[in-house]
Amino acid sequence: MTQNGTLYIISAPSGAGKSSLIQAYLKYHPLYEAQVSISHTTRNKREAEQEGVHYYFIDKPTFLEMIEKDDFLEHAEVFGNYYGTSKNAILNTLASGVDVFLDIDWQGARQIRNKMPSAKSIFILPPSNQELLRRLKGRGQDSDETIDFRMKQAKKEIEHFDEYDYVIINDDFERALSDLKAILRSEKLKTEYQLQNNKSLFTKLLSTEI
Ligand code: 5GP
Repeated sequence: MTQNGTLYIISAPSGAGKSSLIQAYLKYHPLYEAQVSISHTTRNKREAEQEGVHYYFIDKPTFLEMIEKDDFLEHAEVFGNYYGTSKNAILNTLASGVDVFLDIDWQGARQIRNKMPSAKSIFILPPSNQELLRRLKGRGQDSDETIDFRMKQAKKEIEHFDEYDYVIINDDFERALSDLKAILRSEKLKTEYQLQNNKSLFTKLLSTEI
């Protein structure tokens, strides 16, 4: 039987580099090893975003209908919009042995921890508030008003970093990426995981046969 994939919750204030780190990790890992979950949201699509790639963009009545039908593993209201992780795709992907990243906020992270205690959670922090502001301005996709709002929301998100299993400080991108790889690698080296994946080796090593 295939060992289930691991569910990784990744949260961060916007501008901490979360999406870039996940994308950089996935670039070097095939789809049968790791994938990122594509959330549903009621927020407007940004110019650079694509339907089904960054999000599934749906209207509020459709979102509420999905809640009614119990389609979400978790859902939350973030910055005045609804976001949710659909259940089926995630559970099937995990069952086929693939690791799944959930790029979700602290509210969703809490819901997932309650439902799936084996999930690992990682919080990504910026090295300073000044750097966070610089990055938010550098993206050039939000108005000043939105950036001010997001800086305030960032503080609220950061307040929850100590609820997570791991913390990565994204000062230097390459170092942060190697930290992310180290976390995933160490999970694969856990005895429980090794026992599932190397059963025949352990049997042979413990037998009298040379
Ligand atoms: P953005 O609108 O900038 O793409 O995302 C805003 C925030 O919503 C980010 O913190 C992101 O992690 C969070 N988010 C995105 N998808 C989901 C989701 O499915 N569930 C929850 N709880 N948060 C999400």
